[in-house]
Amino acid sequence: MGKTGTLYLVATPIGNLEDITLRALRILKEADIIAAEDTRQTLKLLNHFGIKNTLVSYYEHNKAEKGNYLIGQLLEGRNVALVSDAGTPGISDPGEDLVRLAADNGIPVTLIPGPSAVIAGVVLSGLPSGRFAFEGFLPVNRRARRERLESVSRDTRTLVFYEAPHKLIHTLKDLRDVFGNRRVAIARELTKRFEEVWRTTLDEAVARYEKETPKGEFVLILEGADERGLQEEEKKSWEDISIEEHVRMYTDSGLDKKEAMKRVAEDRGISKREVYSSLLGKD
Ligand code: SAM
Repeated sequence: MGKTGTLYLVATPIGNLEDITLRALRILKEADIIAAEDTRQTLKLLNHFGIKNTLVSYYEHNKAEKGNYLIGQLLEGRNVALVSDAGTPGISDPGEDLVRLAADNGIPVTLIPGPSAVIAGVVLSGLPSGRFAFEGFLPVNRRARRERLESVSRDTRTLVFYEAPHKLIHTLKDLRDVFGNRRVAIARELTKRFEEVWRTTLDEAVARYEKETPKGEFVLILEGADERGLQEEEKKSWEDISIEEHVRMYTDSGLDKKEAMKRVAEDRGISKREVYSSLLGKD
């Protein structure tokens, strides 16, 4: 059997054609096939740089059938360059499925790095970028959306969401309902002429987009849960239970009584003696 081809994931600009890399241009020229999420968009890019090559469409609704076709081509030794609509293939687009298929078939996969809206959004947000969680697009189904948001409501990392303009106000309201009035950065039209990064709060954002029709593509970067706030909340929840119940909570979870009493004293900021005396006579 001959040598298999390589799958090249090629990042393309998210709005400014100057952001293409030299390596991306070379691979787009040299690949045997370019698989594109949006062939019209990719054709524009190729025409701009004077590149002629074979284009095959590969997108959400044909990915199963076209994925098999592309894997067949790779196994026969052809090199395939995969580009998404914009940005880095595999980030909130069908690229991830092709990578999995290629990996399962022992086909080499490599990345030609470049722009991605998530990274641009996080670094421009002014919010902590040391730890962040990328949540991509939220589910469309109302209940699934709520559940997804609630699952990260106590996450202290900065949270990043992608959103389309026609769903923006809806999403901002959902975020406010679940997270309260947190700080948010709304990054719009990144790398384009009307790039805007608005560092604001969810209340202000809802107020603005209730009046204004959003234009462009959006990344929402949301402040994570406040660590101290969470601790306070926990403390409050202990205030609602007796010392005896508090100790039982720990013994039920498997701690021995002595260790449980020590933890309760720490949690409540009281001495072990106080815990002990309040339990006296209750055994
Ligand atoms: N693979 C792409 C990447 O690496 O960023 C993302 C693809 S996803 C289908 C498209 C979403 O990315 C848009 O709905 C928007 O949320 C975000 N996006 C893409 N380009 C953007 C830009 N120039 N400014 C702001 N957000 C952008």
